[in-house]
Amino acid sequence: MISIKLYIAISFLSSFVIATPILHRIKSLLKRQSQQLDPVRVFPGIFWDEAYQTCTTEELDIVVEATRMADEMINAFQNTQGFWATPAWNRYFVRDSSAAGKTNWYSNVRNQDLFIDVINDIKQASMFPKKGRKPAPDGSRSRLKQVGYSCKRPTGVLGTKCAAGPNSFGKWSGPSAVTWYPSATDGHGWAIEFCPRFFQAEGELRYINDITSNPKSEKSLPGMRSYEYAIAHEWMHTGIFGFRLAIKDLKEPENDNDVYGDQACHDFAWLNMDDPHTPGINEYTAYNADNYAWMFQYAWFRNALGWTSDGTMISKDVVSSDPVDIGDPIDDPADGVKMSDIDLSQSTGIPINCQPGPGNANDGNPETNTWTTQLTCAYVGEDYSDFLNDVKAEFTSDGGCTLSAQCNLPFGDGNAVDPNCVCYCDKDISGEREITPLRDPRCAGFAGSLPTPRLKARR
Ligand SMILES: [Zn+2]
Repeated sequence: MISIKLYIAISFLSSFVIATPILHRIKSLLKRQSQQLDPVRVFPGIFWDEAYQTCTTEELDIVVEATRMADEMINAFQNTQGFWATPAWNRYFVRDSSAAGKTNWYSNVRNQDLFIDVINDIKQASMFPKKGRKPAPDGSRSRLKQVGYSCKRPTGVLGTKCAAGPNSFGKWSGPSAVTWYPSATDGHGWAIEFCPRFFQAEGELRYINDITSNPKSEKSLPGMRSYEYAIAHEWMHTGIFGFRLAIKDLKEPENDNDVYGDQACHDFAWLNMDDPHTPGINEYTAYNADNYAWMFQYAWFRNALGWTSDGTMISKDVVSSDPVDIGDPIDDPADGVKMSDIDLSQSTGIPINCQPGPGNANDGNPETNTWTTQLTCAYVGEDYSDFLNDVKAEFTSDGGCTLSAQCNLPFGDGNAVDPNCVCYCDKDISGEREITPLRDPRCAGFAGSLPTPRLKARR
């Protein structure tokens, strides 16, 4: 009886699903239907076709579930009121109160600019997978405005950086995932390659929900590496998310080791705190992908496992004697760059989509003043360099009308519509465009919100 039902289900579905291997796709579809998640619909910032073609059912399940939770993990952090003063920020970026009397994120204009960049990076990472680039009027999305996922590339330049397999002792080394930037020569856009090592049976990476399913102390942290952490790390390299900074894998200045892992990321952020001459935060932390990924993950663990520390390292001795294998870097260490390779002048000024609150950073406590708490950054949704051009151009509203260039960004202090934002839905007899009121639903898609209409008093 059961087998007949299954046969019917398969026949029914196979009339719609022609691609091979059919059984894998059906199993995968059924499983995801039970999770009520269609990744193509829920995550339009990601191009999924190649993942469907190249991942096994099991691999695809891991990538979809880990993407869902990575997005949730980053949003949980982003939605935390005052996250720049939390223990997670303190551990991997150093909060202001820990740097009292030292150079902090608000001490000078460049550091303030970098602080806004970091806030902006977190904001864009929390939004791009679910929002992506605005679709064309016909609803289509350009592959070049998405990040492609794939599991393995049989040929071509992509895939060659992946660790191929374990050595004769069963030990894997080399990348678990690789992020590719667009190539002019072979026409691919941004892409994240999930290598065989990402899915290795030994399970170096695990679901974050499995890791938190039983109690763990903060001392176990170095070995607690989730799929979601690994995905967040790759996302921070993905320029199409709209970061102004090019976020890299940095190397420790004294020994050229990669700044990877809980301890190294903490030490990198706190590198200059005891410097007798110029003590303070390390601004280069803003450029290191792993610091962001560990911050998101640490905040999640702390909440889920009820940790209570303020994020400062418990004790180096405790951690370094911990037998837990912290593993190799998850992506390509050959891409690592030195601090001296980073041009801090890249961050002169602030991203054009961001606007600090009123006042300035040093009005009272910067962790709580309006400059910080009312900072707003509009959604970018594409490479920042493309965004710089696109904000100067008209674009299509959700309802197929034309919005003027001023509709790309909100006005002034962040949340209002620019008074020069104009919507055109119709033309008059002579072919002149006629202005349509922004409150017309066809004009939706402009940045900022319209003022709430005041109701007229009834007589
Ligand atoms: Zn990396």
